[in-house]
Amino acid sequence: MIKCYVSKYNSLCFGASSAVEAAYEHLSDSLFLYGDVINNPVITADLCSKGAKIVNDITKMKDTRNSKLLIRAHGVPKKTIDYLEDNNVNYIDKTCPKVKKIHKIVKDASSKGLDIIIVGDPNHPEVVGIKGWAKTNVITIKDMISAKEKVPYSNVSSTGVCMVVQTTYNKMAYDEIQKYCLTLLPFVECHDTICNDTANRQIEVRNLAQQVDCIIVIGGKKSSNSIKLFEIASEYCNKTQHVQIESEIDLTIIENVSSLALVGGASTPIESIIKSIEILRSACYNSGIEFELIRQT
Ligand code: SF4
Repeated sequence: MIKCYVSKYNSLCFGASSAVEAAYEHLSDSLFLYGDVINNPVITADLCSKGAKIVNDITKMKDTRNSKLLIRAHGVPKKTIDYLEDNNVNYIDKTCPKVKKIHKIVKDASSKGLDIIIVGDPNHPEVVGIKGWAKTNVITIKDMISAKEKVPYSNVSSTGVCMVVQTTYNKMAYDEIQKYCLTLLPFVECHDTICNDTANRQIEVRNLAQQVDCIIVIGGKKSSNSIKLFEIASEYCNKTQHVQIESEIDLTIIENVSSLALVGGASTPIESIIKSIEILRSACYNSGIEFELIRQT
């Protein structure tokens, strides 16, 4: 018998869902996507097969009277918005409101002369976008090692420092970094901008990973929140898989476990979870193993 637990957070988050809906809605407008609309290869491939085109170099977009450019939930730097406005590019801004809130915090703090600390992956588009709303000095901290290397820094603004965090960052890791920074720079204005959706998924995967023999995280390999779920699950459960789509699940796992949990990232559509359940159910059936589905509530 295998007990298969399914996370209660099993569909797209609000920001991803809103961007995907807008992309399908505007397909007939000759749609350009500024990067993958969400980190899910199935949805990106489907949109492209229906006519959407991905553009990575914004300077190729000029005077687009007959087409539209969609900005995804990760958001963009201020200079990108300025470019689009200055060059008459029609655009649909689907920056998640939670990311927009960080842009505003950074913009306002920077206007007051505060330096900015961003806790997050410096190469992730969301962090690149956040950085692009600051006019003052910006320090990006990827993890505790980089916090110890970079903080305190020599020319801290006398006006102060404002700290924000990437929406999909690991909550427990952020709390440690914040504590460390506050001991060295006690005047830092801290904003915990981790998204609730992300935090809830992390709490649940941490709990599940301590109860089951195997965790399967379904989500894009470039999806920051899916990577974090995989990392958290791996801390507690040594049989953890991270797959992009259901067909990548290593089904030999059913021979070695009596319980497993399926967890989706914030950019994983519910269809992918449903297909994963069916694949696992069939594999168990074919091997004569009883399969029990347990939905988390
Ligand atoms: S994870 Fe949170 S911040 Fe990111 S797009 Fe989804 S709802 Fe918005």
